Amino acid sequence: MDLNYSAEDERFRVELRAWLKSHLEEFRALPREPTAAVQYSRDWQRKLYEAGYVGLAWPKEFGGHDAPPTQQVIFGEECAKAGAPALINTIGLSILGPALIANGSSEQKARFLPRILRAEDLWCQGFSEPGAGSDLASLRTSALIDGDDLVVTGQKVWTSLGPVADWCFLLVRTSSDGPSQHGITYVLMDMKSPGVELVPIKQITGKSHFSELFLESVRIPRANVVGKIDEGWAVAKSTLGFERSGLAGVVELERSLARLGKAAKRSGRDSDPLVRQRIAQLHIEKDTLKYTGYRVLTKQIRGEAPGPESGFGKLAASEFRKRIMDLGMDLLGPHAVIGRKDPQALDRGRWPGLYLDARAYTIGGGTSEVLRNIIAERSLGLPKSK
Ligand SMILES: Cc1cc2nc3c(=O)[nH]c(=O)nc-3n(C[C@H](O)[C@H](O)[C@H](O)COP(=O)(O)OP(=O)(O)OC[C@H]3O[C@@H](n4cnc5c(N)ncnc54)[C@H](O)[C@@H]3O)c2cc1C
Repeated sequence: MDLNYSAEDERFRVELRAWLKSHLEEFRALPREPTAAVQYSRDWQRKLYEAGYVGLAWPKEFGGHDAPPTQQVIFGEECAKAGAPALINTIGLSILGPALIANGSSEQKARFLPRILRAEDLWCQGFSEPGAGSDLASLRTSALIDGDDLVVTGQKVWTSLGPVADWCFLLVRTSSDGPSQHGITYVLMDMKSPGVELVPIKQITGKSHFSELFLESVRIPRANVVGKIDEGWAVAKSTLGFERSGLAGVVELERSLARLGKAAKRSGRDSDPLVRQRIAQLHIEKDTLKYTGYRVLTKQIRGEAPGPESGFGKLAASEFRKRIMDLGMDLLGPHAVIGRKDPQALDRGRWPGLYLDARAYTIGGGTSEVLRNIIAERSLGLPKSK
């Protein structure tokens, strides 16, 4: 494992830090309406794109920078440290873009990739259904082929960013013959198509981050099929298989730990040996996670196959986030249930929302139980679960 960044990476870090310092201040000072949050985020991504910081790891021919994976990690670290807004088109950038680069037609690449980078088209993902989550291949949303179109009917659920998305990449069933993975097709759907209805789902946090997506005879041109009809499972698997080192998530966890330290001081319990021990244990685990991330990154740089540690990052980081929030709630005691708008709230009433939201990270993108099965079977060679 190599723990040092190259001189070029360090130069990149210094330049990015300076860019963020000047542009974040300037950007935050702009007048903005509370209702214009989405446009604000689109503008922020566009600004980063123009400065050359979006699509770092994408190939140059598709508008990217062919940057080493270390620079993507540095980008995540510096943005989190500066408190920069997250890139709004994260689903387009991290899931659909790489899937199109690997599997899309040249027309699809030319049409969609530049608009993803510039946040002109925001994307959402229509994979999960009420009866198909962990067992995604049991999906039932169907598509009939009618001339040059696919006619799609069915229901998707938990569609993140649905209300703001311009486009959705969907898995639909075009055939029921053979094993369930066969007969699935990967399509790109304009969210403004007739027959598309979105119903926001109110979450336990009070927010509506995702929606139900109802599709009634929605016509999608055949030109929007990625890969081949009936063979979308391979495209979906390549999409889901983009391994991340998990290092960007570690920076976010470092920020949560710093917030936790402040909460301990404010509660006056920072001298309690049991509290100190729990905080120290969390710091140790965070460092373990960080160095595991470095091992994955080192393998990526050397072009080696990812080892057992690669599947570990998402599982460990999401479970770890829950433990940070548990301790935060313990420290605040009765104040922990006072929400954002209450004048008596400590820490601006953030903790209840953070605590509840932490559960979602152990479900989205693969549940902890399913990830444990994958690690057990594929990495540790244990017998298959029944
Ligand atoms: C914040 C968030 C954002 C999301 N965004 C999107 C999105 O944008 N697009 C999209 O398509 N989906 C999205 N999802 C859906 C997500 O992918 C699914 O929730 C997830 O795959 C689990 O599926 P499920 O909810 O149907 O649960 P199920 O698969 O029904 O699982 C229910 C429970 O059974 C357990 N379980 C299931 N199978 C096994 C097994 N073999 N062994 C042991 N335990 C098992 C699970 O761990 C879970 O505890 C999002 C979810 C969340 C929480």
